[in-house]
Amino acid sequence: MALSYEKIVDLLKEKNYRLTDIRLAIIKILTTNEHLTLAEIVEQLEKEFKNVNLMSVYNTIDLLLREHIVFTNTFDGKQIWYDLAQNPSVHMICDACKNVVHITDSEILQKIDLINLSEGMKKMAWEPIHFKIEGHGLCSNCLNSGEGHNHFDDDLD
Ligand SMILES: [Zn+2]
Ligand SMILES: [Zn+2]
Repeated sequence: MALSYEKIVDLLKEKNYRLTDIRLAIIKILTTNEHLTLAEIVEQLEKEFKNVNLMSVYNTIDLLLREHIVFTNTFDGKQIWYDLAQNPSVHMICDACKNVVHITDSEILQKIDLINLSEGMKKMAWEPIHFKIEGHGLCSNCLNSGEGHNHFDDDLD
């Protein structure tokens, strides 16, 4: 399960990080949304703050990455999305409409077999720490509208 807002604040306090209003606001945004881009984080901050200092947004994200509180994802190889760290971190990505769904259902997560991968890593003398999994395919909307098929036809031209 992902860390709660209170837990993240405690972790940062323990490490003597300064918790400015903007830092707290960013943590709040990350704990109440899924996979946000930097632009989306700034957009939400602008509802609360008159002048959002981009440098302090970058610094906060850097700090959260360094403390392993936040993970990055690049579903399309270009844009970066930020999510709270979760183990495993599991996403489904529709190859047609690019819709991204974050799987948090514990019943589904429990069924994901990470034991083989863990053991494979250990065999190579590594220590497994966390797992990020991406399932690519076609979402139910695209399948129902026939979009998915068109998408692949386009690719063949
Ligand atoms: Zn996500
Ligand atoms: Zn789709």
